[in-house]
Amino acid sequence: MSRLHPISGCVQHYAWGRPGSSSPLVRRVWEAQSGSPDADGDARNYAEIWLGTHGSGPSVLGAAGGGGRTLLSLIEASPALHLGSAPQPNQAAPNLPFLLKLLSIHKVLSIQSHPDLKLAKELHERNPAVYKDGCHKPEMAIALTEFTAMCGFRPLGAIVAHLELYPELASFVDAAAVEDLKWAYERTKGLVGFDQSTNKALKGLFSSFMSSFDASGREPLAAMISRLAAIPEPERTPLDSLLLSFAAQFPGDCGVFSPLLLQVHELSPGQSLFVPANTPHAYVSGEIVECMARSDNVIRCGLTPKFKDVEVLCDSLTYEVAGAGAGGEGEETGEGRLYRPPVADFEVRVAEVEEGGSRTFAAVDSAAVLLVLEGGCEVEAGGEREELGFGQALFISANTRVEIKGGCKVVRALRNLGEL
Ligand SMILES: [Zn+2]
Repeated sequence: MSRLHPISGCVQHYAWGRPGSSSPLVRRVWEAQSGSPDADGDARNYAEIWLGTHGSGPSVLGAAGGGGRTLLSLIEASPALHLGSAPQPNQAAPNLPFLLKLLSIHKVLSIQSHPDLKLAKELHERNPAVYKDGCHKPEMAIALTEFTAMCGFRPLGAIVAHLELYPELASFVDAAAVEDLKWAYERTKGLVGFDQSTNKALKGLFSSFMSSFDASGREPLAAMISRLAAIPEPERTPLDSLLLSFAAQFPGDCGVFSPLLLQVHELSPGQSLFVPANTPHAYVSGEIVECMARSDNVIRCGLTPKFKDVEVLCDSLTYEVAGAGAGGEGEETGEGRLYRPPVADFEVRVAEVEEGGSRTFAAVDSAAVLLVLEGGCEVEAGGEREELGFGQALFISANTRVEIKGGCKVVRALRNLGEL
Protein backbone atom coordinates (compact mmCIF):
# COMPACT_ATOMS: atom_id res chain seq x y z
CA MET A 1 0.00 0.00 0.00
CA SER A 2 1.27 3.41 -0.93
CA ARG A 3 2.25 5.74 1.93
CA LEU A 4 2.99 8.98 0.04
CA HIS A 5 -0.02 10.66 -1.55
CA PRO A 6 0.24 13.99 -3.42
CA ILE A 7 -2.76 16.11 -2.46
CA SER A 8 -4.13 19.52 -3.31
CA GLY A 9 -6.06 21.88 -1.08
CA CYS A 10 -9.11 24.06 -1.30
CA VAL A 11 -8.73 27.79 -1.99
CA GLN A 12 -10.92 30.42 -0.27
CA HIS A 13 -11.44 33.79 -1.96
CA TYR A 14 -12.72 35.68 1.13
CA ALA A 15 -12.99 39.47 0.85
CA TRP A 16 -10.10 40.06 3.27
CA GLY A 17 -7.63 38.09 1.10
CA ARG A 18 -4.84 39.72 -0.88
CA PRO A 19 -5.66 40.81 -4.44
CA GLY A 20 -4.54 38.20 -6.97
CA SER A 21 -2.80 40.93 -9.00
CA SER A 22 -0.28 41.37 -6.14
CA SER A 23 0.80 37.70 -6.54
CA PRO A 24 0.12 36.62 -2.94
CA LEU A 25 1.47 33.36 -1.53
CA VAL A 26 -1.98 31.74 -1.55
CA ARG A 27 -2.39 32.39 -5.28
CA ARG A 28 1.09 31.05 -6.10
CA VAL A 29 0.53 27.91 -4.03
CA TRP A 30 -2.95 27.37 -5.48
CA GLU A 31 -1.60 27.63 -9.03
CA ALA A 32 1.21 25.20 -8.17
CA GLN A 33 -1.35 22.72 -6.82
CA SER A 34 -3.73 23.03 -9.74
CA GLY A 35 -0.87 22.85 -12.25
CA SER A 36 -1.94 25.92 -14.26
CA PRO A 37 -2.32 29.69 -13.87
CA ASP A 38 -5.74 30.95 -12.78
CA ALA A 39 -7.06 32.83 -15.83
CA ASP A 40 -9.33 35.01 -13.65
CA GLY A 41 -6.74 35.29 -10.89
CA ASP A 42 -6.11 39.04 -11.23
CA ALA A 43 -9.78 39.72 -10.50
CA ARG A 44 -9.93 37.62 -7.30
CA ASN A 45 -8.80 37.88 -3.70
CA TYR A 46 -6.75 34.99 -2.38
CA ALA A 47 -7.35 34.51 1.36
CA GLU A 48 -6.66 30.89 2.35
CA ILE A 49 -5.69 27.42 1.21
CA TRP A 50 -6.94 24.54 3.34
CA LEU A 51 -5.15 21.20 3.54
CA GLY A 52 -7.14 18.56 5.38
CA THR A 53 -10.49 16.83 5.51
CA HIS A 54 -12.91 19.50 6.77
CA GLY A 55 -16.20 19.26 4.85
CA SER A 56 -16.15 22.98 3.97
CA GLY A 57 -12.85 22.60 2.07
CA PRO A 58 -11.78 18.99 1.59
CA SER A 59 -8.40 18.14 0.05
CA VAL A 60 -8.30 15.76 -2.91
CA LEU A 61 -5.68 13.32 -4.18
CA GLY A 62 -3.72 14.61 -7.16
CA ALA A 63 -4.02 18.03 -8.78
CA ALA A 64 -6.67 20.52 -7.74
CA GLY A 65 -9.68 20.35 -10.03
CA GLY A 66 -8.48 17.00 -11.39
CA GLY A 67 -11.52 15.13 -10.10
CA GLY A 68 -9.47 13.00 -7.71
CA ARG A 69 -11.03 11.21 -4.73
CA THR A 70 -11.02 12.99 -1.41
CA LEU A 71 -8.26 12.56 1.15
CA LEU A 72 -10.95 11.56 3.65
CA SER A 73 -12.10 8.61 1.51
CA LEU A 74 -8.49 7.41 1.31
CA ILE A 75 -8.17 7.58 5.10
CA GLU A 76 -11.53 5.89 5.69
CA ALA A 77 -10.54 2.95 3.48
CA SER A 78 -7.59 2.04 5.79
CA PRO A 79 -7.74 4.14 8.96
CA ALA A 80 -5.13 2.18 10.93
CA LEU A 81 -2.60 2.31 8.08
CA HIS A 82 -2.99 6.05 7.51
CA LEU A 83 -3.68 7.40 11.01
CA GLY A 84 -1.65 4.99 13.16
CA SER A 85 -2.67 3.09 16.26
CA ALA A 86 -3.15 5.92 18.80
CA PRO A 87 -6.68 7.28 19.19
CA GLN A 88 -7.20 10.50 17.23
CA PRO A 89 -7.89 13.37 19.61
CA ASN A 90 -11.52 14.56 19.75
CA GLN A 91 -12.70 12.48 16.77
CA ALA A 92 -15.83 10.33 16.85
CA ALA A 93 -14.87 8.53 13.60
CA PRO A 94 -11.46 7.96 11.97
CA ASN A 95 -10.31 11.30 10.59
CA LEU A 96 -7.43 13.77 10.54
CA PRO A 97 -7.65 15.78 13.77
CA PHE A 98 -6.01 18.90 12.29
CA LEU A 99 -6.31 21.35 9.42
CA LEU A 100 -3.28 23.11 7.89
CA LYS A 101 -3.76 26.46 6.13
CA LEU A 102 -1.87 29.28 4.46
CA LEU A 103 -3.28 32.80 4.79
CA SER A 104 -2.55 35.93 2.70
CA ILE A 105 -4.11 38.79 4.68
CA HIS A 106 -4.88 42.14 3.06
CA LYS A 107 -7.70 43.47 5.26
CA VAL A 108 -8.22 42.74 8.96
CA LEU A 109 -10.25 39.58 9.64
CA SER A 110 -13.37 39.75 11.80
CA ILE A 111 -12.87 39.96 15.56
CA GLN A 112 -13.69 36.47 16.68
CA SER A 113 -13.27 33.75 19.24
CA HIS A 114 -13.52 29.98 18.99
CA PRO A 115 -15.61 27.93 21.42
CA ASP A 116 -14.22 25.24 23.70
CA LEU A 117 -15.45 21.65 23.13
CA LYS A 118 -18.49 21.93 25.39
CA LEU A 119 -19.70 25.22 23.91
CA ALA A 120 -18.96 24.03 20.34
CA LYS A 121 -21.31 21.08 20.83
CA GLU A 122 -24.05 23.33 22.28
CA LEU A 123 -23.74 25.93 19.50
CA HIS A 124 -23.75 23.32 16.75
CA GLU A 125 -26.95 21.78 18.15
CA ARG A 126 -28.60 25.19 18.58
CA ASN A 127 -27.55 26.83 15.28
CA PRO A 128 -25.92 24.42 12.78
CA ALA A 129 -26.25 26.95 9.93
CA VAL A 130 -23.72 29.25 11.64
CA TYR A 131 -21.75 26.71 13.74
CA LYS A 132 -20.96 24.03 11.18
CA ASP A 133 -19.42 21.35 13.41
CA GLY A 134 -19.26 20.34 17.05
CA CYS A 135 -15.47 20.67 17.40
CA HIS A 136 -13.34 23.18 19.24
CA LYS A 137 -10.85 25.21 17.19
CA PRO A 138 -7.67 26.09 19.05
CA GLU A 139 -5.33 27.56 16.43
CA MET A 140 -1.72 28.60 15.95
CA ALA A 141 -0.25 31.10 13.49
CA ILE A 142 3.38 31.03 12.34
CA ALA A 143 4.52 34.20 10.57
CA LEU A 144 6.07 33.87 7.11
CA THR A 145 6.33 37.67 6.66
CA GLU A 146 5.95 40.54 9.15
CA PHE A 147 2.60 39.71 10.77
CA THR A 148 0.28 41.84 12.90
CA ALA A 149 -2.49 40.31 15.01
CA MET A 150 -4.74 41.24 17.91
CA CYS A 151 -5.13 38.53 20.54
CA GLY A 152 -6.35 38.54 24.12
CA PHE A 153 -7.09 41.56 26.29
CA ARG A 154 -4.56 44.22 27.14
CA PRO A 155 -3.43 44.53 30.75
CA LEU A 156 -5.93 46.60 32.79
CA GLY A 157 -3.47 49.51 33.13
CA ALA A 158 -3.29 49.91 29.35
CA ILE A 159 -7.08 49.83 29.01
CA VAL A 160 -7.49 52.41 31.80
CA ALA A 161 -4.96 54.65 30.02
CA HIS A 162 -6.78 54.24 26.69
CA LEU A 163 -10.11 55.23 28.28
CA GLU A 164 -8.42 58.58 29.17
CA LEU A 165 -6.48 59.03 25.91
CA TYR A 166 -9.45 58.10 23.70
CA PRO A 167 -12.34 59.58 25.71
CA GLU A 168 -14.79 58.85 22.88
CA LEU A 169 -14.83 55.20 24.02
CA ALA A 170 -15.58 56.05 27.66
CA SER A 171 -18.31 58.47 26.52
CA PHE A 172 -20.81 55.75 25.60
CA VAL A 173 -19.97 52.71 27.71
CA ASP A 174 -21.65 52.36 31.10
CA ALA A 175 -19.96 54.79 33.55
CA ALA A 176 -20.22 52.26 36.38
CA ALA A 177 -18.36 49.67 34.26
CA VAL A 178 -15.55 52.20 33.66
CA GLU A 179 -15.37 52.94 37.42
CA ASP A 180 -15.31 49.19 38.23
CA LEU A 181 -12.42 48.67 35.85
CA LYS A 182 -10.43 51.60 37.28
CA TRP A 183 -11.06 50.31 40.80
CA ALA A 184 -9.98 46.79 39.83
CA TYR A 185 -6.82 48.23 38.31
CA GLU A 186 -5.96 50.30 41.42
CA ARG A 187 -6.50 47.26 43.60
CA THR A 188 -4.30 44.97 41.54
CA LYS A 189 -1.51 47.44 40.68
CA GLY A 190 1.76 45.64 41.02
CA LEU A 191 0.13 42.22 40.99
CA VAL A 192 0.86 39.92 38.09
CA GLY A 193 -2.03 38.19 36.34
CA PHE A 194 -5.75 38.40 36.76
CA ASP A 195 -8.19 37.18 39.34
CA GLN A 196 -11.95 36.69 39.32
CA SER A 197 -12.83 40.27 40.16
CA THR A 198 -10.59 41.75 37.44
CA ASN A 199 -12.09 39.32 34.94
CA LYS A 200 -15.55 40.44 36.07
CA ALA A 201 -14.65 44.13 35.65
CA LEU A 202 -13.27 43.50 32.17
CA LYS A 203 -16.35 41.48 31.21
CA GLY A 204 -18.54 44.33 32.44
CA LEU A 205 -16.69 46.90 30.36
CA PHE A 206 -16.50 44.76 27.21
CA SER A 207 -20.16 43.69 27.40
CA SER A 208 -21.28 47.28 27.92
CA PHE A 209 -19.15 48.40 24.95
CA MET A 210 -20.56 45.70 22.66
CA SER A 211 -24.19 46.10 23.72
CA SER A 212 -24.34 49.92 23.64
CA PHE A 213 -22.37 50.54 20.43
CA ASP A 214 -25.28 50.27 18.00
CA ALA A 215 -27.46 52.71 19.95
CA SER A 216 -24.87 55.26 21.07
CA GLY A 217 -21.38 54.43 19.82
CA ARG A 218 -21.48 55.54 16.19
CA GLU A 219 -21.21 59.29 16.82
CA PRO A 220 -18.32 58.97 19.30
CA LEU A 221 -16.58 56.68 16.78
CA ALA A 222 -16.97 59.24 14.00
CA ALA A 223 -15.74 61.99 16.36
CA MET A 224 -12.65 59.95 17.34
CA ILE A 225 -11.80 59.20 13.72
CA SER A 226 -12.05 62.85 12.63
CA ARG A 227 -9.94 63.89 15.64
CA LEU A 228 -7.22 61.35 14.74
CA ALA A 229 -7.36 62.16 11.03
CA ALA A 230 -6.64 65.81 11.88
CA ILE A 231 -3.37 64.88 13.60
CA PRO A 232 -0.46 65.32 11.13
CA GLU A 233 0.77 61.88 10.12
CA PRO A 234 4.25 62.08 11.70
CA GLU A 235 2.66 62.93 15.05
CA ARG A 236 0.25 59.97 15.11
CA THR A 237 1.06 57.00 17.33
CA PRO A 238 1.08 53.51 15.77
CA LEU A 239 -2.19 52.91 17.65
CA ASP A 240 -3.75 56.06 16.11
CA SER A 241 -2.74 54.78 12.67
CA LEU A 242 -4.18 51.32 13.35
CA LEU A 243 -7.53 52.84 14.43
CA LEU A 244 -7.60 54.97 11.25
CA SER A 245 -6.81 51.98 9.03
CA PHE A 246 -9.58 49.89 10.65
CA ALA A 247 -12.01 52.82 10.16
CA ALA A 248 -11.07 53.00 6.48
CA GLN A 249 -11.60 49.23 6.05
CA PHE A 250 -14.84 48.94 8.09
CA PRO A 251 -16.41 52.42 8.41
CA GLY A 252 -18.84 52.67 11.32
CA ASP A 253 -18.06 49.18 12.70
CA CYS A 254 -17.79 48.74 16.48
CA GLY A 255 -14.59 46.75 15.96
CA VAL A 256 -12.70 49.92 15.03
CA PHE A 257 -12.40 50.55 18.81
CA SER A 258 -11.04 47.04 19.45
CA PRO A 259 -7.27 47.81 19.50
CA LEU A 260 -7.90 49.99 22.56
CA LEU A 261 -8.96 46.86 24.47
CA LEU A 262 -7.14 43.99 22.74
CA GLN A 263 -3.40 43.33 22.73
CA VAL A 264 -1.66 44.04 19.42
CA HIS A 265 1.17 41.62 18.56
CA GLU A 266 3.82 42.32 15.90
CA LEU A 267 5.53 39.09 14.82
CA SER A 268 8.58 38.55 12.61
CA PRO A 269 8.99 35.57 10.26
CA GLY A 270 9.34 32.34 12.28
CA GLN A 271 7.52 33.69 15.33
CA SER A 272 4.24 32.12 16.41
CA LEU A 273 1.00 32.93 18.21
CA PHE A 274 -1.27 30.35 19.86
CA VAL A 275 -4.94 31.24 20.28
CA PRO A 276 -6.65 29.22 23.03
CA ALA A 277 -10.43 28.69 23.21
CA ASN A 278 -12.66 31.64 24.13
CA THR A 279 -10.02 34.28 23.40
CA PRO A 280 -10.88 37.32 21.26
CA HIS A 281 -8.54 37.81 18.31
CA ALA A 282 -8.24 39.18 14.77
CA TYR A 283 -5.41 38.79 12.32
CA VAL A 284 -4.53 42.19 10.82
CA SER A 285 -1.95 41.78 8.05
CA GLY A 286 0.79 39.49 6.74
CA GLU A 287 1.21 35.97 5.34
CA ILE A 288 1.16 32.99 7.70
CA VAL A 289 0.98 29.25 8.13
CA GLU A 290 -1.96 28.39 10.35
CA CYS A 291 -2.74 25.06 11.97
CA MET A 292 -5.81 24.21 14.02
CA ALA A 293 -8.13 21.46 15.17
CA ARG A 294 -10.35 20.35 12.27
CA SER A 295 -13.15 22.85 12.78
CA ASP A 296 -14.61 26.01 11.32
CA ASN A 297 -16.47 27.33 14.36
CA VAL A 298 -16.20 31.10 14.63
CA ILE A 299 -18.07 33.43 17.01
CA ARG A 300 -17.85 36.90 15.43
CA CYS A 301 -18.36 40.29 17.05
CA GLY A 302 -16.86 43.03 14.88
CA LEU A 303 -14.98 44.18 11.76
CA THR A 304 -17.32 42.07 9.65
CA PRO A 305 -20.50 42.31 7.61
CA LYS A 306 -21.31 38.75 8.78
CA PHE A 307 -23.55 37.64 11.68
CA LYS A 308 -22.33 39.00 15.04
CA ASP A 309 -23.19 36.74 17.97
CA VAL A 310 -22.56 39.39 20.64
CA GLU A 311 -24.30 37.70 23.56
CA VAL A 312 -22.64 34.32 23.02
CA LEU A 313 -19.27 36.01 22.61
CA CYS A 314 -19.50 38.21 25.71
CA ASP A 315 -20.64 35.24 27.82
CA SER A 316 -18.01 32.80 26.58
CA LEU A 317 -14.79 34.83 26.69
CA THR A 318 -12.32 34.06 29.46
CA TYR A 319 -11.33 37.75 29.97
CA GLU A 320 -7.70 36.93 30.57
CA VAL A 321 -4.64 38.63 29.19
CA ALA A 322 -3.82 36.00 26.58
CA GLY A 323 -1.14 35.56 23.99
CA ALA A 324 1.46 35.30 26.76
CA GLY A 325 3.51 32.95 24.56
CA ALA A 326 3.22 35.21 21.53
CA GLY A 327 6.45 35.49 19.58
CA GLY A 328 7.62 31.95 20.45
CA GLU A 329 10.05 30.75 17.80
CA GLY A 330 9.56 27.02 18.31
CA GLU A 331 12.21 24.61 19.49
CA GLU A 332 15.07 23.51 17.21
CA THR A 333 15.04 19.73 16.71
CA GLY A 334 16.78 17.41 14.24
CA GLU A 335 13.60 17.63 12.16
CA GLY A 336 13.39 21.43 12.06
CA ARG A 337 11.66 23.91 14.34
CA LEU A 338 8.90 22.35 16.42
CA TYR A 339 5.85 24.44 17.36
CA ARG A 340 3.90 22.46 19.94
CA PRO A 341 0.71 23.99 21.37
CA PRO A 342 -0.90 22.85 24.66
CA VAL A 343 -3.64 20.88 22.84
CA ALA A 344 -3.69 17.29 21.59
CA ASP A 345 -5.04 18.02 18.10
CA PHE A 346 -1.90 19.22 16.31
CA GLU A 347 1.72 20.33 16.21
CA VAL A 348 3.72 21.94 13.41
CA ARG A 349 7.31 21.43 12.26
CA VAL A 350 9.11 23.77 9.84
CA ALA A 351 12.29 22.38 8.29
CA GLU A 352 14.83 23.75 5.84
CA VAL A 353 16.97 21.46 3.71
CA GLU A 354 20.06 22.85 1.95
CA GLU A 355 20.57 22.35 -1.76
CA GLY A 356 22.38 19.01 -2.09
CA GLY A 357 21.58 18.12 1.54
CA SER A 358 18.97 15.86 3.09
CA ARG A 359 16.93 15.43 6.27
CA THR A 360 15.26 12.38 7.71
CA PHE A 361 11.92 12.49 9.49
CA ALA A 362 11.57 9.52 11.82
CA ALA A 363 8.53 7.25 11.59
CA VAL A 364 5.91 8.51 14.05
CA ASP A 365 2.48 7.23 15.04
CA SER A 366 0.62 10.04 13.27
CA ALA A 367 -0.47 10.95 9.77
CA ALA A 368 1.26 14.05 8.38
CA VAL A 369 0.49 16.75 5.86
CA LEU A 370 3.60 18.24 4.26
CA LEU A 371 3.71 21.43 2.16
CA VAL A 372 6.66 22.95 0.29
CA LEU A 373 6.96 26.64 1.23
CA GLU A 374 10.16 27.38 -0.72
CA GLY A 375 12.23 25.57 -3.34
CA GLY A 376 11.55 21.97 -4.25
CA CYS A 377 12.54 18.50 -3.05
CA GLU A 378 12.51 14.78 -3.50
CA VAL A 379 10.67 12.78 -0.86
CA GLU A 380 11.57 9.11 -0.35
CA ALA A 381 9.94 6.49 1.85
CA GLY A 382 10.82 2.81 1.48
CA GLY A 383 10.69 2.19 -2.25
CA GLU A 384 8.42 5.18 -2.95
CA ARG A 385 9.57 8.50 -4.31
CA GLU A 386 7.77 11.79 -5.03
CA GLU A 387 9.12 15.01 -6.54
CA LEU A 388 7.57 18.13 -5.06
CA GLY A 389 7.90 21.65 -6.40
CA PHE A 390 7.11 24.92 -4.63
CA GLY A 391 3.56 24.93 -3.22
CA GLN A 392 2.95 21.21 -3.67
CA ALA A 393 1.68 19.05 -0.83
CA LEU A 394 1.83 15.45 0.32
CA PHE A 395 -0.20 13.33 2.70
CA ILE A 396 2.12 10.90 4.52
CA SER A 397 0.64 7.82 6.22
CA ALA A 398 1.51 7.13 9.87
CA ASN A 399 4.65 5.18 10.82
CA THR A 400 6.52 6.16 7.65
CA ARG A 401 10.20 7.12 7.77
CA VAL A 402 10.77 9.86 5.22
CA GLU A 403 13.90 11.30 3.66
CA ILE A 404 13.80 14.76 2.08
CA LYS A 405 16.47 15.79 -0.42
CA GLY A 406 16.95 19.12 -2.10
CA GLY A 407 16.91 22.83 -1.44
CA CYS A 408 13.61 23.56 0.24
CA LYS A 409 11.64 24.79 3.21
CA VAL A 410 8.74 22.56 4.21
CA VAL A 411 6.04 22.69 6.85
CA ARG A 412 4.63 19.49 8.32
CA ALA A 413 1.51 19.15 10.49
CA LEU A 414 0.93 16.14 12.78
CA ARG A 415 -1.22 15.33 15.78
CA ASN A 416 0.50 16.51 18.97
CA LEU A 417 3.14 13.88 19.79
CA GLY A 418 4.12 15.46 23.10
CA GLU A 419 2.84 14.65 26.56
CA LEU A 420 0.06 16.96 27.67
ZN1 LIG B 1 -9.45 32.47 14.64
